[in-house]
Amino acid sequence: MSPNRRDFIKFVVSGAVAAGCPIDRSVLAAGQPSAPPAVEGEDNLICHQVRDGKIFSRPPASARHDVVIVGGGVSGLTAAYLLRQRDFLLLEKEPHWGGNSYLMDYQGNAYATGGAFLEKSEIAYEFAQQIGLQPLPINNWDGSIIKGEFIPDTWGEGLAKLPYSASVREGFKKFRKDILAINVERRSKELYGVPFTDFMKGYPEEIKQWWDTYGPSNWGAVSEETAAALGISTLQEMAIENRQDERYTWPGGLGAISKKLSELLHSEFADRMHNGATTIAVVPARNGVQVTYMQGNELKSVAAKAVIMATPKFITRRIVEGLPEKQSEAMRQMRYIPYPVVNLIFDKPVFKQGYDTWCPGNSFTDFIVADWVVQKQPGYQQKANILTCYTPLREAERGYLLTESSAREVAVKVLSDFQKLFPGSDVAPLEVHIYRRGHPMFMSTPGLFTEVQPLARRAMDRVFFANTDSEGPLSTTAGGIAAARRAVKQAERRLAGKPALKETAVVA
Ligand SMILES: Cc1cc2nc3c(=O)[nH]c(=O)nc-3n(C[C@H](O)[C@H](O)[C@H](O)COP(=O)(O)OP(=O)(O)OC[C@H]3O[C@@H](n4cnc5c(N)ncnc54)[C@H](O)[C@@H]3O)c2cc1C
Repeated sequence: MSPNRRDFIKFVVSGAVAAGCPIDRSVLAAGQPSAPPAVEGEDNLICHQVRDGKIFSRPPASARHDVVIVGGGVSGLTAAYLLRQRDFLLLEKEPHWGGNSYLMDYQGNAYATGGAFLEKSEIAYEFAQQIGLQPLPINNWDGSIIKGEFIPDTWGEGLAKLPYSASVREGFKKFRKDILAINVERRSKELYGVPFTDFMKGYPEEIKQWWDTYGPSNWGAVSEETAAALGISTLQEMAIENRQDERYTWPGGLGAISKKLSELLHSEFADRMHNGATTIAVVPARNGVQVTYMQGNELKSVAAKAVIMATPKFITRRIVEGLPEKQSEAMRQMRYIPYPVVNLIFDKPVFKQGYDTWCPGNSFTDFIVADWVVQKQPGYQQKANILTCYTPLREAERGYLLTESSAREVAVKVLSDFQKLFPGSDVAPLEVHIYRRGHPMFMSTPGLFTEVQPLARRAMDRVFFANTDSEGPLSTTAGGIAAARRAVKQAERRLAGKPALKETAVVA
């Protein structure tokens, strides 16, 4: 690529890193003598003050609802959809719906900023059909680019072609054989409590490098921080005999589900769906719950018979008052990675060999072809080749996303690594879009699924917990939907006058 062309590439930075409580402090402190400046980036101080009730006035409730749902990601939207017959109020802090399953658009071409695909066995598949979306098959096993070579179907036929020494290739084959022999169901409890690296001892280090690429992208953790059950069952699905690729999606990924849900709801309930409405306090009382939120410069309170918290737990624990200590501690233990997604937008075909391609040893882990599932549809004409580069970061790297210039540096590095994969070819995009998120994906660490999540999602009297981080073992759109179903069931029971069940089982 010529230096001139490089200068013309447009970089677009979007997304808020301040997932916690992005509230304008000057408004919160209104009436105080010296108002500090507006918060940019993550600031736990405000949230702790919110939790302790030190700063905010809480106006009296100006309206009453059956259920207030806090958080308009796929989980909150699903809860609202399931509560269509009720008087619900849905509050979302961002100016758009969808949370981590949110798609954007470049001149009519959808691309993902988060959730990519679902499995046919997940409830998201049948739920998508229920809301009028037909899932489209991916039908392509993941390839990898290793040492500059594209290897299709990495863990299937690709194993014999990996561009490593013969002994490393044999190591890959033995690893696959040994992993396939493990009975995860029978050893489930043990395997969720130990790291995946326990099963990598004695194998070539290239195997760990591959999984340290795959794990962070899919479940936020490298192999030593991954529950072994997750790594093992994932490889079993990819490599088992008579396997079938049961993954489905839409152009732009799983944001299609949130988009459809928000459109359906908006057509009927626009007056009870508020964007730009950040909830700052959820205060249970004997006969109801008071929810206070900030919209624009205004603090408002509403009363609810029940509340569904569809926000991630690191936020939830700051907002909900009266959480039992152990439950709050379980929420505190949950860890989340920073995870920007970089979309490279080309005006010509650059890559079409596979849907999801793994690139060990680069600043991004994998890239996805945005319109893969419609490319073979009759009459389809590609207008832009958009490649979505997944770029999970380590927790210590969160700071890179705080300023626009350092986020832009992340995007520049992704572009430069991507271009190195195709030496000699002129792969210069028209635009590079980085969507930054500070804490979008919980880490599937040992013990999280079996011990931490069941405690974190325990129902309170009138407050119920949705969001994918209630379910596990990994962060999925289906998990968000399952959590919403359970929380709605719990809320309905409470609205019917029955005491809340502390039930923690996931509702399929
Ligand atoms: C890069 C990436 C790739 C992924 N790939 C896949 C995939 O391929 N397949 C898959 O199934 N899943 C995938 N996931 C996971 C999936 O996207 C999430 O599990 C799912 O979107 C979570 O939805 P949710 O509604 O539970 O939570 P969230 O999306 O976290 O929604 C919570 C919402 O609450 C809002 N909120 C927060 N605080 C407040 C407040 N105080 N007041 C009001 N609103 C608030 C947030 O803005 C947000 O909209 C991926 C995630 C990421 C980040």
